[in-house]
Amino acid sequence: MRAIRAIGYDMDYTLVHYQVEEWERRAYVHIQERLAVRGWPVGNLSFDPKLVCRGLIIDTEKGNLVKANRFGFIKRAFHGTRPAEYEEQREVYARTIVDLAEERWVFLNTLFSLSEACMYAQLVDLLDRRELPEVLGYADLYARVRSTLDAAHMEGRLKAEIVADPTRFIQLDPEMPLTLLDQKYAGKKLLLVTNSDWSYTVSMMSYAMDPLLPKGITWRSLFDYVIVAARKPSFFTVASPCFEVVTEEGLLSPVIGPLQQGKAYFGGSAQQLEKSLGLSGDEILYVGDHMFGDVKITKSVLRWRTALVLRELEEEIEALRSFEADEGRLVALMDEKEALEAENCRNRLEIQRLQHPYGPKGLANEQALLERAQALRARVEALDSEIGPLARRSTELGNTLWGPLMRAGNDKSHLARQVERYADIYTSRVSNLLKLTPFAYLRSPRGSLPHDPGAPGGRPLLPTGDA
Ligand code: IMP
Ligand code: MG
Repeated sequence: MRAIRAIGYDMDYTLVHYQVEEWERRAYVHIQERLAVRGWPVGNLSFDPKLVCRGLIIDTEKGNLVKANRFGFIKRAFHGTRPAEYEEQREVYARTIVDLAEERWVFLNTLFSLSEACMYAQLVDLLDRRELPEVLGYADLYARVRSTLDAAHMEGRLKAEIVADPTRFIQLDPEMPLTLLDQKYAGKKLLLVTNSDWSYTVSMMSYAMDPLLPKGITWRSLFDYVIVAARKPSFFTVASPCFEVVTEEGLLSPVIGPLQQGKAYFGGSAQQLEKSLGLSGDEILYVGDHMFGDVKITKSVLRWRTALVLRELEEEIEALRSFEADEGRLVALMDEKEALEAENCRNRLEIQRLQHPYGPKGLANEQALLERAQALRARVEALDSEIGPLARRSTELGNTLWGPLMRAGNDKSHLARQVERYADIYTSRVSNLLKLTPFAYLRSPRGSLPHDPGAPGGRPLLPTGDA
């Protein structure tokens, strides 16, 4: 944080956090109404916030929702709203690796994706029942849902509902304005770069910040540069025209030359912003909630420092904490099971060498070895019946259907892999930076390797001198 000279903030779901269920339900209803007008039989559908979560991937070719691990292997799949059986999943995906560069896959990058993904899964069920005659297949269905949500976000009605009732839709964070004040007085330039339009931005920012700032300071005076309608991710890659917002009503005037401090702009590009700031990429930190639009592109194209905001982690960490004792028990049981399995392997090999016969001989005779094998099997079975329910619960933490955000089984999830590659830091909310202070030095933790002495599950294979 010390070396950072400018901090850019995204607005929606970064500085301004929404009541996800409320917001997404309204977005869902807007999609639903638009589809109903076209004669689609969607009247009985309703938003199910538990069905989907950020980090899942839509397989638009098969009409599935999947969760992949860090290598892109699919670990869990739903067809429409129905969980795929193990065998079915294997059959469809055994040879498939998710590559997000392919058009087939749609990554759920942000909490704004939940309404769309839920509606898509439910419509896949309708399509399978042949209730959507005009739709040409799963990919066509996705394209239609996508463009409908797009239209709902762009058109004014949905946003007007949010603006009319901010207390219902916005979750205020009383510590967020103080976090930014600390940063500003520590000498950092503050930037707001949002895809939202001017009037929506003014409503949201005034509501979320102004009452919580000291007298005489408003959100406008806090930010050195404000950029609305930024069109991220192209903001980071393309030099688009830039306009100055010259009146509170949002009147625009073209900009020639560098951006000026204290002003608000519409459009433009990161390149122009960087130039106006006179800073290099590693002196700028950008904080956002959109895995692709805010973090991946920013890091891979501009090499800015990046922070990803994942609010869901708060609930998940609570769930992990409440499972801590059981987790300890699960680890102990798995350790015991692994030791028994290893003994069983050695035992089997001894029997094999006795039966053929070759290799060094142990002390036990075949009968004793066979009896031991039986005892080991019985103990492993008993352990399994205790491990089963605990293991299942551990895969349901944070989300009953999909499990923890950053894990796929015991491995890291595809989301975790992207965080690791593109985000310098990740956190559940901007105000977590408050405790760090603007002067903190953030060191990356020393990652563990399976052969580290004492690493969980680590079993270094060293030559023992035995044959
Ligand atoms: P930001 O996170 O502050 O950059 O702003 C996100 C903006 O993008 C909000 O105004 C959202 O309404 C809008 N948005 C989110 N998802 C979509 C979409 O699928 N289509 C069009 N606009 C979207
Ligand atoms: Mg955002």
